[in-house]
Amino acid sequence: MIKRNYIDGKWVAAKSGAKISIENPATGEILAEVADGNQEDAQTAIQAAKKSFYETREWRDSSAQDRADVLYQICAKIDEKRAELARLDTLDNGKPLREAEGDIDDAYHCFQYYAGLIKKPAGGVYEVNDGFGKMHSYTLHEPVGVCGQITPWNYPLLMSAWKLAPAIAAGNSVVFKPSPEAPLSTIALFEIFDEVGMPPGSVNLVLGGSDVGHELAENIDVDMITFTGSTKVGQGIMKAAASNVKKIGLELGGKSPNIIFSDADFEGAIEWAMIGIFFNQGEVCSAGSRIIIEESLKDKFVERLAERANAMTIGNGMDNPDIGPLISKRQMDKVLSYISKGKEEGAKLVCGGERLTEGEYSKGYFVKPTIFDECTAEMAIVREEIFGPVVTIQTFKTEEEAVALANDSIYGLAGAVFTSDGARALRVIKEIRAGITWINAYNPTFNEAPWGGYKMSGIGRELGTYGLEEYQEVKQININLEPGTIGWYEN
Ligand code: NAD
Repeated sequence: MIKRNYIDGKWVAAKSGAKISIENPATGEILAEVADGNQEDAQTAIQAAKKSFYETREWRDSSAQDRADVLYQICAKIDEKRAELARLDTLDNGKPLREAEGDIDDAYHCFQYYAGLIKKPAGGVYEVNDGFGKMHSYTLHEPVGVCGQITPWNYPLLMSAWKLAPAIAAGNSVVFKPSPEAPLSTIALFEIFDEVGMPPGSVNLVLGGSDVGHELAENIDVDMITFTGSTKVGQGIMKAAASNVKKIGLELGGKSPNIIFSDADFEGAIEWAMIGIFFNQGEVCSAGSRIIIEESLKDKFVERLAERANAMTIGNGMDNPDIGPLISKRQMDKVLSYISKGKEEGAKLVCGGERLTEGEYSKGYFVKPTIFDECTAEMAIVREEIFGPVVTIQTFKTEEEAVALANDSIYGLAGAVFTSDGARALRVIKEIRAGITWINAYNPTFNEAPWGGYKMSGIGRELGTYGLEEYQEVKQININLEPGTIGWYEN
């Protein structure tokens, strides 16, 4: 049966009857067929969300305790269905099963975190006495209204959780659009919303592609749009969102530097560099895709990194290899074209650099972990986001040079520094123009800490207290404690 949209508390077919076939990137098999929604479906969902927020108001007016209770019920269901949700993400996206299980645990903790946070004190009380007599001022955090949310395919359930958990905890009504490349676990999450009895219209799911996404960004009945995806599409979202000056949150691409000094713990730096670039097949926005290493350590480091990369097992994510297939033929072709470009530009291919095509690999989109040495700042493989298992190596002689190379990018999502010199670690990390950074580690992500980029990597923050505030308006309330006086106006 074709998986349907979820609008106003009901599972409904796409108005056009169009459908998308969902492919397993490891085998080419069709896993499911899902509705291919369009502008009209998006409009219906937006009207349902609008009615739920502005007329019926059941979710918006519920107490923080009641909303937290529902979020905890969602957690319990995620936990109950953990194995199935992880299986869906692996089949749909290709990632190794144990990584998918980690994603489901993170998604569970994300709902749990916002269930707790929504009951904590928020806002402030301000001393205001500027010639107006006795006045008292405080702030109130309120839901924004109707939120459109759009996600990519690389962490299917987790990206949904990062957006949905804070938005619904805050009392908003949502219209959600997952990537058409990997929507299955998000559909399962909406089944959970249905099971726990979220009020009709408070959470709506519209499956489909850019038509749906564009409508969410442009429609004047949407009060806020949050988007995770490529910088290019994000720029279009920003333009469309100008229609009603809607609130906006953008989590976009990256090309993040991983700086390694010669005094770093060698094996530690190697293992973190591996995680930095090859985790999730390198399909990670924060991937450490540019290794910037002190010249004196470079040869030894690259030799060891290549040894580790060549030893990685590659296969169907269900068999728990080190690395699974890329999400689609389109993504694989994009990665392979960057590999060709790297060779043409004169970078030295150290390992990988090709697709696996023999036997069991023939129907999937498997690309070997790839390392390019002798890279320069002008090369496309250094400047542009590849979003696959490809890392470039550049060298530096001084700390200043390392920082300059690291910051030589339109992006500013993430970055790391490896050194045993504590003061240098702090100096360098402070200079990196990026929102998410690590010292002597790469990639760990926490629900408690803010996530987001500088420069063309985005606007706003997800996760932590910042992630909740993104989905809230802040109202200033001023109270005259002496109603008979008009203070300064008397003059
Ligand atoms: P994408 O930009 O192609 O698509 C993202 C989403 O936008 C999908 O749901 C897609 O259907 C939708 N979309 C496509 N065209 C649209 C349009 N014109 N209007 C509205 N919506 C549209 O990105 P992708 O290939 O799915 O994901 C990879 C990108 O996501 C990478 O650039 C990666 O860095 C980025 N990403 C960023 C973060 C972060 O936290 N900063 C996290 C994960 C992924």
